[in-house]
Amino acid sequence: MASGDFILGIDLGTTNSLVGVVDSGFPILLADAEGSRSTPSAVHYGRDGSVAVGSAALRQRVLDPARTVTSVKRLIGRREGEGDWRPPYDLRVLGTTAVEVSAAILKHLRTVAEMAMETTITRAVITVPAFFNDAQRIATKRAGELAGLIVERILAEPTAAALAYGLDKLGERKKIAVFDLGGGTFDVSILEMRDGVFQVLATAGDTELGGDDIDRLLAQHVWETSAQGQSVWFEQLSAEVQVRLVTAAEAAKKKLSSEATVRIELPFLWQGQSLEREITRADLDKIAGPWAERTRQHCWRAMTDAKIKPEDLDEVLLVGGSTRMPLVRQVAQDIFGREPNVSQSPDEAIARGAVIHAGMLSGALQQVILLDVTPLSLGIETFGGLMNVIIPRNTTIPSKAGEMFTNAVANQESMLVRVLQGERELAKDNWELGRVEVPFPAGPRGSARVGVQYSIDANGILQVLARDTAMNHDVVLEIQNTAVDVDDAKVEAMISESVEHAFDDMNERIWTEARLKAEELLPAVDQALAQLGCEVDLAEAQRIQSSAAKVRLLLKADVHDARALKQANAELDDATQSLAVLLMDKAMEEALARKGLA
Ligand code: AMP
Repeated sequence: MASGDFILGIDLGTTNSLVGVVDSGFPILLADAEGSRSTPSAVHYGRDGSVAVGSAALRQRVLDPARTVTSVKRLIGRREGEGDWRPPYDLRVLGTTAVEVSAAILKHLRTVAEMAMETTITRAVITVPAFFNDAQRIATKRAGELAGLIVERILAEPTAAALAYGLDKLGERKKIAVFDLGGGTFDVSILEMRDGVFQVLATAGDTELGGDDIDRLLAQHVWETSAQGQSVWFEQLSAEVQVRLVTAAEAAKKKLSSEATVRIELPFLWQGQSLEREITRADLDKIAGPWAERTRQHCWRAMTDAKIKPEDLDEVLLVGGSTRMPLVRQVAQDIFGREPNVSQSPDEAIARGAVIHAGMLSGALQQVILLDVTPLSLGIETFGGLMNVIIPRNTTIPSKAGEMFTNAVANQESMLVRVLQGERELAKDNWELGRVEVPFPAGPRGSARVGVQYSIDANGILQVLARDTAMNHDVVLEIQNTAVDVDDAKVEAMISESVEHAFDDMNERIWTEARLKAEELLPAVDQALAQLGCEVDLAEAQRIQSSAAKVRLLLKADVHDARALKQANAELDDATQSLAVLLMDKAMEEALARKGLA
């Protein structure tokens, strides 16, 4: 396989990160020079300007905690001071940013992959929690770019997990919950299989709930119940001593997932004194109980938002290293009322899913359908040159939507359907993807019924179906890929233009709508006056005339004053109230006369 064909799948985790590729049709995770497939998401910035990543950085943490950056995922894409988590380091002092630290980790993973595959690799899929906001996603993408990677896709972690469990082969409408408790974040998502792809129905979670909390709580407990802990608070200990305690607590916690007791031994921990303790799983469960319970409310929230009950679920997947804890498994089982699926390694599932997705994108794995979204809105031009959105931007594909249109003028024999893409209010400012003419029998204004349906399949192909419902005549137009494959820079330019022109665009839309209304109103008023002018009193006729004149004046003006025109239309409408009633009575009389009843 040529180097350009590999796409990395990367799980950029809070605590650990993993990387892999599809090689010879198999998704594999790649090990570093030390034989480890999991790289601690840690970066150490030496005073001499050296930068160490992964376990090399973690080894420095004990000696130099203030210069060792960990759990940076908790800070990425956030403004300073946002969130409750306060790191034991100061990025400004280190002269770096969360994006740059993440980039250092990604660069390291890229090197691990390049060494293993013996080729240069420049493309990647990176996973993020489902509830990461735009800023956090953009910052993650930026980190990838800084690491020299083209980020082909930012993939939601639960979707990746579902792919790893092979659940993309589940039947239609099957629902799954992904319970992901890692080192720093908790993320629960409800997914449903629709048209062969997973849709995220709901997501909930806590960006500040994870295994790290337990390490600290356990470390505190160990210290405060030791002989030395009676005289000094945990918080008063030096950063170095705290880190040693936390590291030992984490190791003990992990062991307690498979053993009933562990011994913690920390020689010369504090003022030359050593600390030795035995901890049981029951001790840990007592400390971690309220913490694990915090997941319950989020799971219920997600199920409520997705409008489902636990019994509606077909599978519950556990993901994230902390779900190895028996207590966590028990809580998850209790919440969802079923035994969770733990057949995949919880700390590798997301990375495996990212690799599978990357393989699908590169063509190395072909059997599965791509998950994608429309980067820009797709719509149709309507009366007065306005954009009418049919499929909004960011809709997951495949997707289908449609609307009914009619003829704007009498005796029209066809309608031109212009397929547009973009975020602007006026058709002319958007891009035209194609056009098709739909013929229909001529008739009065508003008599034609043309249904226009847009459907985008999983391959990004847009099919436009226009149907004259009177004659049941279909016109079909197929547009390849353009609906989904748009250059990132062009998407950004379109969105920023739409924001920049939002005010003018909106004014123009209101103006056009008001103009169409005025153009409909004026001839109708003229006709009614001609027909019934003698039956309304002079004052009223004058009021109607002057209101109509005002509308005409505004229509002719060079400056489009949308508000004034709307107001003038309303006044004209108001002035012609009794004229309209007269007109109605007259029509009624005539109808009755025709039937010989008057
Ligand atoms: P992740 O973010 O998915 O890599 O998960 C990392 C978290 O899982 C850390 O808090 C680890 O301490 C925790 N973890 C990893 N292995 C185990 C285990 N065997 N038992 C309990 N927690 C674990």
